[in-house]
Amino acid sequence: MLDAAFFRRWMTATAVSVDREAERLTALDSPIGDADHGSNLQRGFAAVTAALDKEAPATPGAVLALAGRQLISTVGGASGPLYGTLLRRTGKALGDAAEVSEEDLAGALRTGVDAVMALGGAAPGDKTMIDALVPAVDALGEGFGAARAAAERGAVATTPLQARKGRASYLGERSVGHQDPGATSAALLVAGLAEAAGE
Ligand code: ADP
Ligand code: MG
Ligand code: MG
Repeated sequence: MLDAAFFRRWMTATAVSVDREAERLTALDSPIGDADHGSNLQRGFAAVTAALDKEAPATPGAVLALAGRQLISTVGGASGPLYGTLLRRTGKALGDAAEVSEEDLAGALRTGVDAVMALGGAAPGDKTMIDALVPAVDALGEGFGAARAAAERGAVATTPLQARKGRASYLGERSVGHQDPGATSAALLVAGLAEAAGE
């Protein structure tokens, strides 16, 4: 079973890897965006860890709700409301249980990813964070390591795609040949989950 401490480890591990990879995320956002994705998420996840340290929420759902609120209020740019919605809706789907199963988490994440697609209008293949998140949720039944590998493959597979959502879509065909920054950060988020599980 997964408790609030597990969810805090997930958020902390993601904050550490976002911090480490911030320059790379911003570099990916340079040719097909406005070169702020790394700094956006760095600011957001710093706020997440600060808020978790201060408030120490007692349940998995409350950890994700607090993290989602922080991302929405501190990340300028498209990715803030999208990641914030992912975490808030996943947290809401987990309810107020003190511990949840891996199956509960897989189902809740599915709800969260669906909410991101409803909010942003992106489908798989549109060259967004969805291209890492959907394969990860699909693979979660096979374990956290499988989800991490699926998210990484999904992020790499955005390179030949033409963007149909977000800033990169303004470039039309010129968006082809670049890995999507949001799919890349989504793979970091899923890797954080595997790390929290000790995988
Ligand atoms: P901005 O484009 O506002 O500067 P960021 O650079 O922080 O925001 O995030 C860009 C990333 O957000 C993209 O690489 C893409 O993965 C994701 N994104 C943008 N629009 C959408 C959308 N409508 N649905 C899903 N993801 C999106
Ligand atoms: Mg940007
Ligand atoms: Mg921006």
